[in-house]
Amino acid sequence: MFSRTLTKKSMKNYLDEIGRLQDAFERADVVLIGAGSGLSASAGFSYSGERFEKYFSDFRQKYGIQDMYSGGFYPFDSLEEYWAWWSRHIYWNRYVDAPNDTYEKLMEVVKDKDYFVLTTNVDHCFQKSGFDKKRLFYTQGDYGLFQCSKFCHQETYDNETAICAMVEQQRDMQIPTELIPRCPQCGAPMTMNLRCDETFVQDEGWYRAKNRYDEFVRRHEGMKIVYLELGVGGNTPVIIKYPFWRMTAKNPKSTYICINYGEAYVPDEIRKQAICIDEDIRKIIVEVLRFKNNK
Ligand SMILES: [Zn+2]
Repeated sequence: MFSRTLTKKSMKNYLDEIGRLQDAFERADVVLIGAGSGLSASAGFSYSGERFEKYFSDFRQKYGIQDMYSGGFYPFDSLEEYWAWWSRHIYWNRYVDAPNDTYEKLMEVVKDKDYFVLTTNVDHCFQKSGFDKKRLFYTQGDYGLFQCSKFCHQETYDNETAICAMVEQQRDMQIPTELIPRCPQCGAPMTMNLRCDETFVQDEGWYRAKNRYDEFVRRHEGMKIVYLELGVGGNTPVIIKYPFWRMTAKNPKSTYICINYGEAYVPDEIRKQAICIDEDIRKIIVEVLRFKNNK
């Protein structure tokens, strides 16, 4: 395993790093993107501040909730309140377009490459921006799907109609009781298809995507590949970060690129193969794209 020595590369020579990044892209035939919440934050999906205030100020006043992230853990007394919160959260973070075009720009950067995306994001931004569905693996679920909270069967259900109805018909932070979503098999309340614990439903689509991802990794072993890690935080490193480090260490022809505002680091073992940029992801993607289009 890797040593605990992590190098936090300073960006004294920021232009050098950008140049190396562009070279790595030029040379690579294959790009494996690993994306975390930092990418959606860079696309404008901020969970706090102005955006939170705009859509949730009533919840702040009544319950003292300070941002969208912590609101997800609030112990609401009733399902009517719970779904008033969650329908709004899902609507504004899953069904509306991203505030800016970061994902579309990223698509432009990788579209001529053999690419694949592994992501912990559940906001559907990759699909909405034109990424090929067959090149995506959403390991942690999707805000746009319901599953049975009792885990009684392994199926998921599109929730757009239900969510929009809850958003439209809620009053004083409560939805009408008859809109509470129920499992068609056992009648238990539905919940979001998100990996919070062992009750996460992995349906056929999930397994198909997992198989495609495994196959992609296997097929490109030893090739000139760029592991492009975008906005992956330290909460669940076993899903993207650690596997990317391991695959980089195993393949001398590969390059590991980590772009993360405030949290860009790399273990010493793969430092020579790594490019680490502590900057806003959107800014870097825009620069890479400008270089690509001016060639
Ligand atoms: Zn059920």
